[in-house]
Amino acid sequence: MRSPRVHDVVVVGAGPAGIGVAAALGRAGVRAVLVDRYEVGASFRRWPEGMRLITPSFTSNQFHQVDLNAITPETSPALSLTEEHPTGQQYADYLGLVVELEDLHVRTGVDVLDVEPYDDGTLGVLSADGRDLYARHVVWAAGEAQYPRTNGFRGAERCVPTVQVPAWVDHPGEAAVVIGGYESGIDAAVHLVEAGQRVTVVDPGEPWNVVDADPSRTLSPYTRGRLRRAYATGRLELVGDARVVEVAPEACGFAVATDAGESFHSDGPPLLATGFVGSLAVVRDRFAFDEHGRVEVTESADESTVVDNLFLAGPALAHRGAIFCFIYKFRQRFGVVAREITDRLGYDAAPLEDLRDHGFLLDDLSCCADCAC
Ligand SMILES: Cc1cc2nc3c(=O)[nH]c(=O)nc-3n(C[C@H](O)[C@H](O)[C@H](O)COP(=O)(O)OP(=O)(O)OC[C@H]3O[C@@H](n4cnc5c(N)ncnc54)[C@H](O)[C@@H]3O)c2cc1C
Repeated sequence: MRSPRVHDVVVVGAGPAGIGVAAALGRAGVRAVLVDRYEVGASFRRWPEGMRLITPSFTSNQFHQVDLNAITPETSPALSLTEEHPTGQQYADYLGLVVELEDLHVRTGVDVLDVEPYDDGTLGVLSADGRDLYARHVVWAAGEAQYPRTNGFRGAERCVPTVQVPAWVDHPGEAAVVIGGYESGIDAAVHLVEAGQRVTVVDPGEPWNVVDADPSRTLSPYTRGRLRRAYATGRLELVGDARVVEVAPEACGFAVATDAGESFHSDGPPLLATGFVGSLAVVRDRFAFDEHGRVEVTESADESTVVDNLFLAGPALAHRGAIFCFIYKFRQRFGVVAREITDRLGYDAAPLEDLRDHGFLLDDLSCCADCAC
């Protein structure tokens, strides 16, 4: 039997993280194979109709302030899409454009179930249909959006995660309950109010009252503006200080009960915006996690502390208490991962150095300890 081909790098996930790392590797002449269970930008293609990026796009690249939503220093979604807040469809189009520009190699329809380390140091990228690949290095970039949290209280399975709603206008009824009041929850509430529904948002943390210097811990200005307008219609109620404990069927809909003894009626299935378990659940044994459930990776290269040559890119990244959940945050580590892999393959990593000037190669994490980055 012929021995299987061992690729230099396989990147799992053709979203902004995977494409961004593959593009960075390309600068040093390292060719990665990108695999995705669906298509390029699949998570964005599946966003509810009308949902937009909360981070604004603006073409400021020439002055070393790269468009916040760009995944390479030379591109700008604002320029290619002529939108400040692109929809999911538009952003997926931008990602497709980068794949073309960078001449990246993408294999779609590869649903990865595990990354298995072998004694000789290679990694097996095992897929659902047996089209396994083998690589010297693997970058896990399968994101979070396709893995929403769907438990946490009795009857949670009766709810629909907000990221799985195709179009808000089609959500049934005239009264809706949204569980979770951070970005996704408020986005759902705003769209439902626009569609004419009366909406109750329940969140014990009252994110609408939180102001924090770190955009990962507070509602974006874009969302706050829309929230104010929705609230002014009188059709939006924000319930804090109460945790949902049960969703049960009742006549013509569902009863959403809280630990404060209240119950709210939802005509259609209540909407779940309680966060994500994330794709790391697929390869849970291949990474270590701290007591808060945050993944542990090396500071020098975002490499797994359990499996050598397995790297992480994307919103699950965290270092020294700082979370890298936005594109403009996690893209700062594209150059770090790419440089490490390039070095290990014996290529010249010098062409990656210019990424530093553009905020795509952040290797000094000392700021994370004492500032809100
Ligand atoms: C609803 C929502 C709104 C957001 N809005 C913003 C925003 O406005 N601005 C911002 O900066 N960030 C935003 N974020 C943060 C978000 O995490 C990132 O923008 C971005 O999607 C993360 O990129 P990614 O490439 O890691 O993940 P994804 O975009 O999810 O890409 C992962 C890819 O991996 C594939 N995949 C998943 N599992 C497997 C598997 N097992 N095998 C093979 N392929 C797999 C998927 O099909 C997908 O194409 C938002 C997140 C969510 C959930």
